[in-house]
Amino acid sequence: MISRLVLGLCFLASVAAGQNADSQPRGDSSQSPGPVASPATSTAAKVTYSSVHVDGLYIAMTFDDGPHQTLTPKLLDLLAQKKIKVTFFVLGENVERHPEILKRAVAEGHEIGNHTWSHPNLAKLSQEKVRSELQRTDDLIRQTIGFRPKIMRPPYGSLTSKQREWVHEEFGYNVILWEVDPLDWKEPGPAVVARRIISQTKPGSIILSHDIHAQTIDAMPEVFDALLAKGFKFVTVSELLALAKPATQPSPVPSATATPARP
Ligand SMILES: [Zn+2]
Repeated sequence: MISRLVLGLCFLASVAAGQNADSQPRGDSSQSPGPVASPATSTAAKVTYSSVHVDGLYIAMTFDDGPHQTLTPKLLDLLAQKKIKVTFFVLGENVERHPEILKRAVAEGHEIGNHTWSHPNLAKLSQEKVRSELQRTDDLIRQTIGFRPKIMRPPYGSLTSKQREWVHEEFGYNVILWEVDPLDWKEPGPAVVARRIISQTKPGSIILSHDIHAQTIDAMPEVFDALLAKGFKFVTVSELLALAKPATQPSPVPSATATPARP
């Protein structure tokens, strides 16, 4: 079947590219990574978020590409210990492998978002294939935890404006990108991951990271302690959106274009 072939190619591509790096630049694509992607048209209801204007020190920490067999449970233990709620953007193929971890995350108060089935670059797929990637994952999440996700994050932050509107209309999803990107998928070491997150996080930030890298999980004790010490309050993405206050001007989002291209 063509879809199996596509899934296989996407898998190989993501492995070759360094394990599903959402912030990885796509040199052959006009689609920019999340933070520099333009929002949905101004006439439409707001669909896409990289950060939220809030009154208060609210932030949303997000973990993509899991669940991972050992790292996600390790993270959940830490989150329970610190009483922190986060959001997991999961891959359908990993939910299929570890449904019990997804159930545990929800039981412990975390939010689940749709991150597609197999991590393709959606901007390069037909509408039918995009629908299949999202629907299959949506169905499995619902079967596993009993309800549908309200949010999605496109792999690599790659989704055209037209696709965003269509995804919002068809699935009701808000499209969640990010403001803080520690480039943890490059595995620069836990201290660097921690320093980047701690120094870049502001009120209303949505922070990107990945629960499939041991270094990311190893960075989290320091990240959580430092951000809690600064007074930040961790909420899920949907909670952060619900806390949004009107801003006079949308705040500019830092560019991630300085990221060096991979070979
Ligand atoms: Zn991803």
